Amino acid sequence: MAVPKRKTTPSKRGMRRSHDALSVESFQECPNCGELKRPHNLCPACGHYNGREIVSAEG
Ligand SMILES: [Zn+2]
Repeated sequence: MAVPKRKTTPSKRGMRRSHDALSVESFQECPNCGELKRPHNLCPACGHYNGREIVSAEG
């Protein structure tokens, strides 16, 4: 079995993990109801997208 010859140093480990951070999800206000929604996604609150109703609101 292949085994690493040397222990990974804290520096190398940190360099590898420098790209591991999660980015914050982006949100935009819905132009119809003002709720926060994901960009390029149907509004979960009112069911509108691109200025018209796609899915009728439930409840
Ligand atoms: Zn909306």
